[in-house]
Amino acid sequence: MDASLGRIALPAGTMLFAEGETGSCAFLIASGCIEIFLRRDDREVVLANRGPGEIVGEMAILDSRSRSASARVVADCELVVITASQISHRIAGTDPVLRMCLGVVIARYREMIGMIDSRDRRQVPRNEPSDHFEAALATLSLEGEIRRGLLRGEFELFFQPIVRLPTQRLAGFEALLRWRHPTRGLIQPGDFIPIAEASGLIVDVTAWVLKEVGRTFPAILRAALHNIGPTQRFYMSLNISSHDLSRSGLAESVGKMLANTGIAAGNITLEITESVLMKDPAKAVAALEACRRLGLAIAIDDFGTGFSSLSYLGTLPISTLKIDRSFVYSMIEAPASRKIVQMILRLAEELDIPVVAEGVENADQAKLLADLGCAFAQGYFFGKPLPLAPTIELTPQWRSLEEYPLPEAPAAKKRA
Ligand code: C2E
Ligand code: CA
Ligand code: CA
Repeated sequence: MDASLGRIALPAGTMLFAEGETGSCAFLIASGCIEIFLRRDDREVVLANRGPGEIVGEMAILDSRSRSASARVVADCELVVITASQISHRIAGTDPVLRMCLGVVIARYREMIGMIDSRDRRQVPRNEPSDHFEAALATLSLEGEIRRGLLRGEFELFFQPIVRLPTQRLAGFEALLRWRHPTRGLIQPGDFIPIAEASGLIVDVTAWVLKEVGRTFPAILRAALHNIGPTQRFYMSLNISSHDLSRSGLAESVGKMLANTGIAAGNITLEITESVLMKDPAKAVAALEACRRLGLAIAIDDFGTGFSSLSYLGTLPISTLKIDRSFVYSMIEAPASRKIVQMILRLAEELDIPVVAEGVENADQAKLLADLGCAFAQGYFFGKPLPLAPTIELTPQWRSLEEYPLPEAPAAKKRA
């Protein structure tokens, strides 16, 4: 059975798998019926019938042993293929006690099959579909679509400017992922990144993002050359998730991209959130140190939302803090938000780390941040994320504050 198939239709009579085979995938039944049986002394012992909402073939994947029974389609089926890696990845990320319980249940089930081996059970009751069937089906379908989307080139990077305050000179861009789905149009990352993360597909997504940054950055840098100060760093920032940090080889992948494209390590910033750091701190520290040794900059994204201890700031090789946009959004009206912004700026100053304020939507916010000493800003006020072509087209015309000063707050108007 080809595990890369995604969704398959099989007519009645098809053998799905046979007892004793090694299993490479399990199957979620969308429609139809499957009979699980043992062949003993030239006769068949039916163990169970499985229908819509049930999974077959999962045991051999869960305990990496051979198929405990055979499975045959008895009413035309539509099946969603669940690959071994889709399952093992999820299991690896679960609580060890749960993993142990799962192991015990599987072992008992195998024992039970052994006991009823010789007993004929043709009248086997069918289970009701699980409550989680619809959600599981949607998630698995989307995973298949993401995998196919990567192969078919449906993903695209948008670029949002990051500027220096108070001059508004271009400092760089953040690469933000979009999915141009053939039927559903442009899909925002919030609608597919969490699924890619849960399934482990994010590693392939990040590999694609890295490659695309390598392809696009030289042209963006050329377009920006006249707009950056002669000694100032110009960079592309990209988002890294926890799986990228916990697998080995992130620094090597970035290093390869740099070697293939001639981009300098100093031109790349990796953005990670506090929660990513906290998931597996030991691995995260090792991966980040390897990245820093390569010369990459590390930014802490959504800073202030993680409720985590600040102790990591003293030990990790961090180059930038990005203040979460929720604080910037309310800092004009809400004194508490303004105080948090001030506190983060003071903390960063103590640590000698520059700060990027995210989500700056108007001139009042930009002016206040500049007055408070914030070095960088990003947000709709300076520019929304745009595809590559308009980014390259608009970048040479980027105007700095020297020519177009920020209006005095509060009589500010949004800049076009
Ligand atoms: P993020 O890293 O915090 O990215 C900033 C998000 O804020 C972007 O949303 C951006 O479009 C939005 N934004 C920027 N300025 C403003 C503003 O002035 N106002 C408002 N309301 N929003 C603003 P987007 O592009 O939808 O991305 C959402 C999240 O998806 C990102 O949050 C990031 O966590 C994730 N993401 C995006 N691209 C990638 C990627 O390539 N890899 C990974 N792992 N995650 C990604
Ligand atoms: Ca980010
Ligand atoms: Ca952010």
